Amino acid sequence: MKEFEKIPSLFGVNVFNETAMAKYVSCDAVVAWKQCLKDGTSLQLDTANEIAEGMKNWAIEHGATHFTHWFQPMTGFTAEKHDSFISPAPGGKAIMEFRGKELVRGEPDASSFPSGGLRATFEARGYTAWDPTSFAFIKDGSLCIPTVFCSYSGEALDKKTPLLRSMDAVNRQAIRVLRLFGDTATKKVTASVGPEQEYFLVDKQLYNQREDLKLCGRTLFGAKPPKGQELDDHYFGAIKPRVAAFMKDLDEELWKLGVYSKTKHNEVAPAQHEMAPIFTDANTACDHNQLAMETMKKVADRHGLVCLLHEKPFAGVNGSGKHDNWSLATDTGKNLFAPGKTPSQNAQFLLFLAAFIKGVDEYQELLRSTVAFAGNDHRLGANEAPPAIISIFLGDELHQIIDSITEGTDYVDKNKRSLQIGVDVLPHIPQDTTDRNRTSPVAFTGNKFEFRMPGSSQSISGPNIALNTIMAEELQWFADRLEGSHDFNGDLHNLIRQALTEHKRIIFDGNGYDESWVVEAEKRGLANLKNSAEALPAYILQKNIDLFTHHGVFTPGELMARHEIHMENYCKIIHIEAQTLVDMVQHQILNAASQYTKSLCDTILAKKQALPGITCRVEEALAESISHLTNDLLERYTELKTAVSTVPAQASAEELLKYYHDVVFDDMNKVRAIIDHLETLVASDFWPVPTYYDLLFSV
Ligand code: ADP
Ligand code: MG
Repeated sequence: MKEFEKIPSLFGVNVFNETAMAKYVSCDAVVAWKQCLKDGTSLQLDTANEIAEGMKNWAIEHGATHFTHWFQPMTGFTAEKHDSFISPAPGGKAIMEFRGKELVRGEPDASSFPSGGLRATFEARGYTAWDPTSFAFIKDGSLCIPTVFCSYSGEALDKKTPLLRSMDAVNRQAIRVLRLFGDTATKKVTASVGPEQEYFLVDKQLYNQREDLKLCGRTLFGAKPPKGQELDDHYFGAIKPRVAAFMKDLDEELWKLGVYSKTKHNEVAPAQHEMAPIFTDANTACDHNQLAMETMKKVADRHGLVCLLHEKPFAGVNGSGKHDNWSLATDTGKNLFAPGKTPSQNAQFLLFLAAFIKGVDEYQELLRSTVAFAGNDHRLGANEAPPAIISIFLGDELHQIIDSITEGTDYVDKNKRSLQIGVDVLPHIPQDTTDRNRTSPVAFTGNKFEFRMPGSSQSISGPNIALNTIMAEELQWFADRLEGSHDFNGDLHNLIRQALTEHKRIIFDGNGYDESWVVEAEKRGLANLKNSAEALPAYILQKNIDLFTHHGVFTPGELMARHEIHMENYCKIIHIEAQTLVDMVQHQILNAASQYTKSLCDTILAKKQALPGITCRVEEALAESISHLTNDLLERYTELKTAVSTVPAQASAEELLKYYHDVVFDDMNKVRAIIDHLETLVASDFWPVPTYYDLLFSV
């Protein structure tokens, strides 16, 4: 069989999708299941039993022996607890059994998952409940059933529950808007997401020699190699054989799991690559992205490689992000962000566009806070894509149209008048307006928005919950004002114009890296939350609490719990990094510097004996510089050590956050600067860990 012929038969073999269901479950049960999806109701127990039985038979035939509820706790990773299908049968025998009850509900002992105080210890157990909108799949011999994870009193303890709620919220409001435009056919509007996943591949043997990579996922120090990404020769460059073999294997594994892995290419930094799937509904996209990250790590291991998903494994070369391509689609197959061809379609498009612009401006701090965590601090606002200030890039054509609406200026040279919404046809907007301003955190790319701030390691759930809910809020704003209007086109025009006029400040087509943008953004009153310590507190601004509670996405309690977890998580990460750095300095760096100095001094002594009168300028200068640096290092690292061991005991979570950022992280950077300098002086034979050159150019 030719390679390309394999793919269709490979695709989804490990997924209990509709095709598999049709084979293993009665028609009635499939219909009942579909009806439940449509109505958002739960399955009758007998139907659940039947689906469970079919699922089990399918799974066993495909080599599974166990099943697990697969969920996404607040750790940002996925969790699973495996049970075998085995059930005792008379005569000391066993049968393979799986009942509807086990399919729809599970009770993992979940007391060790972060709950932000939501789950009192006396009620430590949470429960998992089947998410019938996401297909079950087989992974490593286990049938994995995607589930939500909640506390006994029903509070969300995971990343899936609020995502599903936010999808409902935006669906409700979008339908209201569509009805205003006479669309009675659409029954459901779904948020679509396509996440582009960046990652690094490094050699496993080298990786294993670095404690920081193993414990923190990133290098805590490392001098810049003589060559980085200056030549842009890696970007879209030819893929090396070892990487190509990994990518082929990865594609196959992902296809088997029903992930539409589509695009692969080299990224900007050496050893950096990207995988993009074809977009799906936000819930599936989120599940699939978690699976993709896990699969990348597994497949890399098989190839003697390690896949680094950290946002900034190496200083000085680009970090990794996850561009979150987002749009809204109807069940009739329309993309609501695709500019239309008739005046009415245009008007509808402009409403959705205006709603998005208004929402991003009003909730810019919220969006920023959904991508705030220790790893991403190295990217956002730190001299690389994208800056920490939220703005939207629209491209020339749309920008002109918006100017025309707000200022009454001409929108095409031939029509010497401003655009009248609902009356005029939009000028053609090219699908791909891309010279693609790559510095923009939020970019309109023809028929979708690309949110470029999420970090490569993070779950895309948080950012998409925010995008969906913000959109729900703004669509509601329009729907509330337009339902019952007596002059629909006139009112629509005025509302769009009002929204755009009031929120235009968020649109920026210039260079986001430029210093002048920071000044300009401040003038416009845009938030510039430079790091997690500044951005995380914004998560619980009153307007954000109102937003989420109003749309039923989070209760205030759930929101506060998440806030606690985010802050705690930041502190824990910095704490671990600082301790790792201290450990490496103590056990590796100081020793290496001292060994090398000894070797230099030995040389000096030997030279003086053997070659009287010959100077030892090189050895002396090196030994001296290294001694000075080591003294500095000792001082700085002692400061760091003290900072980590004297964390203020009575501090609030917010104070701790600030402490870890302002004191501990700052101390780490000072230590790092000295080590990086040392690395350039110490001879390779003495340097205790693989360098950036080794790591970035060895695969
Ligand atoms: P680029 O790197 O130029 O941004 P890619 O092709 O690598 O483009 O990635 C684009 C991503 O956007 C893909 O995952 C694609 O499936 C996704 N995408 C395309 N159309 C939509 C849409 N309407 N809604 C959401 N995602 C989309
Ligand atoms: Mg992109």
